[in-house]
Amino acid sequence: MAVEPLVLDDDFVPLTGAGRTAPSLALLARPRSAAEAAGAVLRRGPRGAVARGRGRSGGDAAQNAGGTVLDLAALDRIRGLDQAAGLVVCEAGTELGALARALLPLGLQPRAGAGPWTVGGAIASGYGTGVAALELLGADGESRTVRHGEPLFDATVGGLGLTGVVLSATLAVRPVETAYLRERTVRFRDVDALLAHWTGGGAPREPYARARVELAGRGRAFLSTAAPVPYAGLPRGHRARRAPLALPSFPGVGAGGLRPLPGPARARVLPAYGSGFGPGAAFVRYRCAVPEGREEALRGILALLAGRRSPARGARHARVERVYADGAGPLAFRVRGWCLGLDVPAGAPGLGRFLDVLDERVAAAGGRVCLAEDARLRPALLPVMYPRLAAFRGLRAALDPGSVFRSDLSRRLGL
Ligand SMILES: Cc1cc2nc3c(=O)[nH]c(=O)nc-3n(C[C@H](O)[C@H](O)[C@H](O)COP(=O)(O)OP(=O)(O)OC[C@H]3O[C@@H](n4cnc5c(N)ncnc54)[C@H](O)[C@@H]3O)c2cc1C
Repeated sequence: MAVEPLVLDDDFVPLTGAGRTAPSLALLARPRSAAEAAGAVLRRGPRGAVARGRGRSGGDAAQNAGGTVLDLAALDRIRGLDQAAGLVVCEAGTELGALARALLPLGLQPRAGAGPWTVGGAIASGYGTGVAALELLGADGESRTVRHGEPLFDATVGGLGLTGVVLSATLAVRPVETAYLRERTVRFRDVDALLAHWTGGGAPREPYARARVELAGRGRAFLSTAAPVPYAGLPRGHRARRAPLALPSFPGVGAGGLRPLPGPARARVLPAYGSGFGPGAAFVRYRCAVPEGREEALRGILALLAGRRSPARGARHARVERVYADGAGPLAFRVRGWCLGLDVPAGAPGLGRFLDVLDERVAAAGGRVCLAEDARLRPALLPVMYPRLAAFRGLRAALDPGSVFRSDLSRRLGL
């Protein structure tokens, strides 16, 4: 019997996440309009479809082996700004950093934050701050407006593209007087001292706060906090006094602890954005949430990471953030408490088994692993980490009974 070789179409391209692990081939559609996106969803094959921003999430959430992937890069227009209402409407493929740069001369910034990731990707990865409404393309090729507070809105924020394709979003903007933040960094001898400071009454709740904990060497911790600088707060004689809303010319922290707001800053450092392990190096991004009151679990995980034999030692440091509120949706990653993240070079011997142990610790503490960054979680732990998983599955079954929206992640974890 003759065996017919499987010849993949030229349009099938290999895709990975930012970590460059687990590549898979998908038919890449590049819609330039909402109508073309609807056409791509309606024409998808039996392996379904999923949306993709810039592929900046760490794992396989924006991949769909053998199916369709909608690359939304061309849907990047800012459609309108209502300064009185403090709202901007933009297409889902718009990079939040580019939006921040476009708004800066008007003295405005998106409340959703800024970086080299897209509006749609940020929403689907769980960032819903300042999102008032979105246009969602469904499995039937129809789009509908979904507003903040509706169950479908909550399921779409953090829904990993599995509730539909976000075509555009209405985002809140906030006024800024200058393009700068003032950053302060405080050094602690170890993570215990950091947590004591951060949970104590005196710690200021700054808009931007992130700690770096050394995983090698002395195990010191560095807490950086930053707040927007009003015009009157610019140092005397600083050239920004002449043009406070011009794009800053330096990327990092400059004189007087001034640093550019996140979007403008990223524009200058974009080529360097990534794992820090060199261009093209594959890495695993581990990101987990640990609830407030379970700080001993956080300390235990950091101690395991810093252990002499830890396969994660290649990471050099871990990032720790304080989270002040739970996420709303059934697949929300955010848990009031702590967020821990690190990038580890892929392929370190024993890394898979080691991260499985971390997963168990996280689950036992009532925490969860971030699915948008994941490429390796075992499915058995999913309902433990995400107790409202059944609600998400129920909503998807009602909305998309044929499971049109699928990804490598959704197949791997049975989402
Ligand atoms: C305030 C803020 C802070 C952040 N901080 C960090 C950080 O410190 N470190 C870091 O690594 N990342 C950070 N991120 C990025 C975030 O974690 C995601 O990785 C990123 O937003 C996804 O990038 P992307 O747009 O390229 O989407 P992709 O990686 O391409 O896709 C990610 C997911 O979104 C889905 N998706 C993409 N577009 C759409 C769409 N239009 N409709 C429906 N689903 C879609 C995909 O299917 C996939 O499930 C931050 C994001 C924000 C908003």
